[in-house]
Amino acid sequence: MTDTLRTLLDAALSSEADPGDIAALPLPATMRAAVVRKDEVGMFDGMTSDEKDPRKSLHVDEVAVPELGPNEVLIAPMASALNFNTVWTSIFEPLSTFGFLERYGRESALAKRHDLDYHIVGSDAAGVVVRVGPGVTRWRPGDRVTVHCNSVDLEGPEGHDDSMIDTRQRIWGFETNFGAMAQLSLVKANQLMPMPTHLTWEEAASLSLTLATSYRMLVSANGARMKQGDVVLVWGATGGLGGFATQLVRNGGGIPVCVVGGAEKVALLRSLGVEHVIDRKAEGYAFWSDDATPVPQPSEWRRFGKRIRELTGGEDPDIVFEHPGRQTFGASVFVVKRGGTVVTCASTSGYSHEYDNRYLWMHLKRIVGSHFANYKEAWEANRLVDRGMIHPILTQTYPLDAVADAAHAIHTNAHTGKLGVLVNARSEGLGVADPEKRQRYAGDLEAWRRLT
Ligand code: NAP
Repeated sequence: MTDTLRTLLDAALSSEADPGDIAALPLPATMRAAVVRKDEVGMFDGMTSDEKDPRKSLHVDEVAVPELGPNEVLIAPMASALNFNTVWTSIFEPLSTFGFLERYGRESALAKRHDLDYHIVGSDAAGVVVRVGPGVTRWRPGDRVTVHCNSVDLEGPEGHDDSMIDTRQRIWGFETNFGAMAQLSLVKANQLMPMPTHLTWEEAASLSLTLATSYRMLVSANGARMKQGDVVLVWGATGGLGGFATQLVRNGGGIPVCVVGGAEKVALLRSLGVEHVIDRKAEGYAFWSDDATPVPQPSEWRRFGKRIRELTGGEDPDIVFEHPGRQTFGASVFVVKRGGTVVTCASTSGYSHEYDNRYLWMHLKRIVGSHFANYKEAWEANRLVDRGMIHPILTQTYPLDAVADAAHAIHTNAHTGKLGVLVNARSEGLGVADPEKRQRYAGDLEAWRRLT
């Protein structure tokens, strides 16, 4: 870390510093950042997804500090966290994210800043504000913040009911440049939220993207509108999305039926008091035939549905929390209750789905598409954390230099919960503003950490 950056950080983190004094300190000209490079986009051509290795394409480079524009804020991320979108960026699938940056760059002179020959990744951060741009009134240098990843101006009318509908809505650090995994990061002022006071930097950084996505999918009026007593089937229940979905279902008086791959994950969920767990690997579900041209296997959907009924005392899921996609979607549509909802935000195993539409229309089921969350939804989800009602599921933290190892772990599904990245923080365990509050939630924090 350069002396200029160290001086800036020390001032921004000091409880005595005046916001004006922090703003007057010089910024460094360059910074360290996790990037993919445009001249390497073709490096995996001809390989299968499994063969594409983020450790070859994700680098930590010295790059220029971005210029600050109106309604923007420059933050110093103390920590960030891996999301699956960084895997997509680093294996250039389904498309290279440089296409997003080029398109964004054509929007305006200011947006042109994003169209570079490197892409700084990362869509989750906790850190401190070091500069605010013209027009920013709610945030000041020295504020400790978490960042949600919905980047939108709302200049046009489309997004004013729900900013996720805005045609210019983008995911920060995925469809924009200057993401979280850099010593300084550029965000819009309307991405900031107060950092929960009982959490460490890395815990606070591990929440927003997957928690707010799960919140919108399950709780929000824009999603499945879960109510008390609903049976909710949660795929990947110890993963980034599923770990929060499980907590949200329990908080809201629902009954989670959790699907995981492996006995250890079953034991972990049981230790957290989750009653209904299915080990998809032990059960050996084959929702598709495994020949050259695979076809769906409805008899396996039926076997899966029977297992759910055995656990729930004969009930089908009111809601299916979907994200694996092609491998599971047909089963999800089949098992959801008459009149129930399959809510989906992803297609990890393939985005071309097949399901039997007779089960959908004859049984009046709904499929709801969902994508991240608007500011209000992200704020409400952050509030649940601050009130100790949702806990981080951070299982491991990597230094910035090892970010590619973390991306590789996610790509190979060798992880549970969330993987953190220390950016400016010198070590884990720092950043707690209210130790007494942390003590109140110590048992819960420890329990969810056991997801490791
Ligand atoms: P994650 O931490 O890797 O967890 C996903 C879990 O799904 C895995 O741990 C795995 O658990 C399970 N899974 C994977 N492949 C499966 C398959 N073929 N069949 C059944 N289960 C499977 O990832 P995540 O952060 O939860 O994200 C999941 C997906 O959602 C990614 O594609 C990501 O890009 C997307 N996503 C979308 C949004 C959005 O806003 N649209 C937001 C966040 C994430 P087990 O092996 O234990 O079953």
